[in-house]
Amino acid sequence: MSAAVPVSITVRSASRLLCIEWDDSAVSELPHARLRARCRCAACTHAARRGDTPGDGADVTLTAVNAVADGGLNLVFSDGHGRGIYPWAYLREIGAA
Ligand SMILES: [Zn+2]
Repeated sequence: MSAAVPVSITVRSASRLLCIEWDDSAVSELPHARLRARCRCAACTHAARRGDTPGDGADVTLTAVNAVADGGLNLVFSDGHGRGIYPWAYLREIGAA
């Protein structure tokens, strides 16, 4: 597991990407809809188990990005959902998918 941490985080509204530049010089470009679909909060995890993926393929965009104390981001989406916490390692994993 990589212990990379971001050196820059940019939200691109037009292309609906969250761009993360890591300290090992890798770059992740994460579509907003993919981030929404991969939310791991209790409600989304439960929905996913039922085969219902929230926001998947939808016109959902990121509206806010908040740093969390233990190393990661809290993301808020245009559908009003903002409970998901995305640790750095998880963002890195989504970016590689
Ligand atoms: Zn969620």
